[in-house]
Amino acid sequence: MPIDATQPYDDANIFARILRGEIPARTVYEDAHALAFHDINPQAPHHVLVIPKGRYVSWDDFSSRANDAEIAGFVRAVGAVARAAGLVESGYRLLANTGRDAHQEVPHLHVHIFAGRPLGPMLA
Ligand code: 5GP
Repeated sequence: MPIDATQPYDDANIFARILRGEIPARTVYEDAHALAFHDINPQAPHHVLVIPKGRYVSWDDFSSRANDAEIAGFVRAVGAVARAAGLVESGYRLLANTGRDAHQEVPHLHVHIFAGRPLGPMLA
């Protein structure tokens, strides 16, 4: 079910549980601001999710409440994940579904990184 991007943060959400180490994930990157792991249901040959470590429901929540260090750290982490996977030359796509119409399902901000094949002009 799509979530409401303005709902309160739910500490029981699946990505919060991954951050706390309560359920496993195939982690590819971690630093002070972000964690990255493979999507459980990949939509491209390379499909990784990058999440901030702070309690943010959505892109809207993050961009309005996070401090500059968190925002810079997260943005740099997304780039570092793509570079570490060797995706820069072939290219990659970033996606942050936000709220109901975008069909955001997990209420913890996540940026999808898709790569590994020509992705076409748009995903939607
Ligand atoms: P959204 O639609 O919210 O942008 O995307 C949520 C993504 O999280 C989906 O691509 C889905 O496959 C992924 N996902 C959902 N539950 C889990 C999980 O438990 N582990 C991992 N690694 N990915 C998950």
